[in-house]
Amino acid sequence: MSSPVSITRLTTTQDNFNQQLDQLLAWEAVSDTSVNEAVNDILHQVKHHGDKAVMEFTARFDRLEVADFSQLEMSQERLQQALDGLPDDQRRALELAAERVRVYHEKQLQPSWNYTEADGTMLGQQVMPMDRVGVYVPGGKAAYPSSVLMNAVPAKVAGVKEIIMVVPTPGGEVNELVLAAACISGVDRVFTVGGAQAVAALAYGTETVPQVDKIVGPGNIFVATAKRAVFGTVGIDMIAGPSEILVVCDGKTDPDWIAMDLFSQAEHDEDAQPILVSWDASFIDQVQASIEKLLPTMERESIIQASLRDRAALIQVKDLDEALEVTNRIAPEHLELSIDDPMSIVERIRHAGAIFMGRYTAEALGDYCAGPNHVLPTSGTARFSSPLGVYDFQKRSSLIMCSADGASELGKTASILARGESLTAHARSAEYRIK
Ligand code: NAD
Repeated sequence: MSSPVSITRLTTTQDNFNQQLDQLLAWEAVSDTSVNEAVNDILHQVKHHGDKAVMEFTARFDRLEVADFSQLEMSQERLQQALDGLPDDQRRALELAAERVRVYHEKQLQPSWNYTEADGTMLGQQVMPMDRVGVYVPGGKAAYPSSVLMNAVPAKVAGVKEIIMVVPTPGGEVNELVLAAACISGVDRVFTVGGAQAVAALAYGTETVPQVDKIVGPGNIFVATAKRAVFGTVGIDMIAGPSEILVVCDGKTDPDWIAMDLFSQAEHDEDAQPILVSWDASFIDQVQASIEKLLPTMERESIIQASLRDRAALIQVKDLDEALEVTNRIAPEHLELSIDDPMSIVERIRHAGAIFMGRYTAEALGDYCAGPNHVLPTSGTARFSSPLGVYDFQKRSSLIMCSADGASELGKTASILARGESLTAHARSAEYRIK
């Protein structure tokens, strides 16, 4: 018999509720000084010694020694071979997931637009895909074929010309599903390198790895720290913290389902954060009982247990209104609305990465194959950011084309404002065109 799992219980009526919630949510994404120092050294070495440094770090951190850098690249034939070698059910599942992700993301494509004013002046916005992006696929402790799809497919839909993927292969052990996913997604080149050295290679370029414009994809603290450090030289998608799930339930869903939904994020990481919010106290007790019953059946029991012990909470609120207030305050990465009519209240959710609506929509479906992206803002950053999408691989240029009449009219306004700023060249440049 396992011992009962201790999970923080909070009620909004207790005096120090806000303080307790703040403590529970506190998470500093990238702050470890020793990691910062190690990463800065790796970035410096790769910037100055290119392929050679990447090979050395790959030998040191991933126990993969090669005589020549070309051995760290997977050919397109090798990717195709991985796809062809998959068991039928896996290949079909991967292809179906990729297709659903593609169809969903095609809806996000933003067209260029323009309009013409009465005097003939045209204004607009031209939308262009990025030339080359780097996709980081984590591979230190586990392999994530779904991450390949979620990062590479939107880039492809956006029209990115070249997609470079990096994935560590500790001890040289490659994951066939990851390679097959790269093949299905249309990745152009794959290098079996990881960590800060892979981020550096993509950001600065080496003799073999081409420099990219933007790096996307999740990773451990070394990867996240490196991405933050190279931001500015290249674009990055986000700095992702540990996974989170917040379930709001009215007490009418099977408590076993809710317990397993909480586990599904807890099993990612000891630091993952599963939270249940309900106004039905006896239902919270039932979920706690389900957790205790089901935990010993889980393969990743110890990771789940640590996440439940240190970062989870069962929160009792007064009613649905208060549940939504708490939800907006937490701004969760994943939100499950396990209630009767989620559509009627969804517009009251102001901050959440992805909203899974109704009792049947397990968050896990979104992780793999529903269609929306699984790369989502964590640690409350849903207040100001969005899921990874096609828009992350597109950029916009403003278009301005003045007619002679338009230039004359606008020139008068520009001249006044420029002279107000004492910028004479600006003023005269505009004034030359006044009729
Ligand atoms: P990883 O690929 O992120 O990291 C492995 C690399 O870390 C190695 O190649 C090595 O270079 C580097 N490294 C390890 N120890 C080091 C050290 N002491 N010094 C310098 N470098 C070192 O793989 P991982 O470790 O398995 O982590 C994957 C992370 O990605 C997990 O936290 C997981 O939860 C997360 N993840 C997130 C999502 C998402 O969508 N948010 C999806 C999948 C995975």
